[in-house]
Amino acid sequence: MATNNERQIAERRIDGEAFVLPAATIAGESLCAADSEVCSRICNAATGETIGWQQHATAAMVDRAVHAAHDALIAWRHTTPAARGKLLRKIAELVEADRARLAAMQMQVSGKPPFEADLDVSDTIATFNYYAGLCEDASAFAAEAVAVPDDALLAERVHEPVGVAALIVPWNFPMVTTAWKLAPALAAACTVVIKPSELTSPTEHMLAAIVSEAGVPDGVVNVVNGGGDVGAWLTTHPLVDKISFTGSTASGRKVMQAAAQDMKRLTLELGGKSALVVREDADVAQAVSLAVGGAFTNAGQMCSATARILVHDNVYRKFMAAFETAVRAVLVAPPQVADAAMGPLISAAQHARVAALVAQGVEAGAQIAFAGQLDPACADGFFMAPVVIAEPAADNVLWTDEIFGPVACVKSFRSDDEAIAIANDTRYGLVATVVTGDEKAARRYKAQLRAGLVWVNTPQLIFPQVCWGGFGVSGIGRELGVAGLRSYQELRHTVGLRG
Ligand code: NDP
Repeated sequence: MATNNERQIAERRIDGEAFVLPAATIAGESLCAADSEVCSRICNAATGETIGWQQHATAAMVDRAVHAAHDALIAWRHTTPAARGKLLRKIAELVEADRARLAAMQMQVSGKPPFEADLDVSDTIATFNYYAGLCEDASAFAAEAVAVPDDALLAERVHEPVGVAALIVPWNFPMVTTAWKLAPALAAACTVVIKPSELTSPTEHMLAAIVSEAGVPDGVVNVVNGGGDVGAWLTTHPLVDKISFTGSTASGRKVMQAAAQDMKRLTLELGGKSALVVREDADVAQAVSLAVGGAFTNAGQMCSATARILVHDNVYRKFMAAFETAVRAVLVAPPQVADAAMGPLISAAQHARVAALVAQGVEAGAQIAFAGQLDPACADGFFMAPVVIAEPAADNVLWTDEIFGPVACVKSFRSDDEAIAIANDTRYGLVATVVTGDEKAARRYKAQLRAGLVWVNTPQLIFPQVCWGGFGVSGIGRELGVAGLRSYQELRHTVGLRG
């Protein structure tokens, strides 16, 4: 992959020059669209300033990228796990060596505070290292004997690469979401075509350049840029065997429909409307800290945002007073402002969408209990102060829908039964948090909260060893962990006479 070109582009931007990203990078070649083709603007979300342009791939380029991945599969699938592990380890090392530039680009595009941008890089490194480890260990790839009731027969199961994978990622954690898909796909010996979000593609280009520099052969990793139409071309391409999609539930439904035609393998990581439960015996200071992190990290643009906060009646007033103090203290500011704690929304459109949902919720009767404030340096970007709604009606849009912005709702409850019932009263089921000093109660919540991942008295810790994914309309399948690897493999059994 001739991604040094893209790397230089990214470097130029860090030096202050606008750039134009190519429409696609296919089998080592950067392809530019003709002038008449679509080109979209890449903004700095913290200033609104144009920092570059993104050319969009044509349908013919998408076809070419898929063919390149298909051709590369022949040799790539016969590499050993050890060889792939070496490459994944090298990618992790190169990301580490490039940490400062990657974080700087993440801040320039998304306006994230430095600690969040740096965490994204750390998460990317941890993911590549984890899958490198699985490859080095090799046991996840070895044939396993299956006991059958006939000693004359040998039955075995093997895991084979699923083939060409389309990796479609959104804008909220660019690079991280890509790493969660790319590392296990490469570990499994799949070849890929990545479709980044058109809003945040620069870090994906930098990551693709690193993958190339690490020595991953041309054609194994290809990138096509553009919007939903480019994603849709990928999902309907007959040579794509697997789709891994992260994004909205609405788009996820379309992707699932597209996948149905050829029975493509599918992983969907979609939205959420998750709960944080504060029991009567909770440490209130800890609960407030977890509520602020759960609702306002990444300006609330997280599928895992715990934006439905349930607080026991007996500690409700104490919690709300401390929560108000904490929310008013959140420093919403561009990344250059020292101690910035929350950045902007990703785009003017996302800002308008979230503001319209808040207006709609308030119009329907939701009460804003308190809100945070913006630093004066926020004048030009897509910033929004955190908003807290108290006791919304069960059918209020702010309570029912994924807002994907800094909006949290708080409701009181009187018993564990009631808290669990309210927490589970959603079609989503991605994550949940419970804050309690009682181990027995914690076990009950872990067992009864309907979510793919439940945290007890911790922030939203994410480890590559622990799978990610949800129940209901939060998606299908799991990323990370061994299950994340398996999602890029087909299971095959053989049965024959022992030799
Ligand atoms: P989308 O679900 O529309 O986009 C996610 C990715 O899929 C992007 O790369 C997008 O391209 C692409 N895409 C869009 N439509 C299709 C399609 N039919 N087939 C294949 N790929 C497609 O999310 P948005 O970025 O538009 O955000 C809208 C809302 O979705 C947010 O406000 C939020 O509520 C939710 N969201 C949820 C996320 C989550 O992790 N749960 C992540 C992001 C958004 P492109 O965007 O470049 O046009």
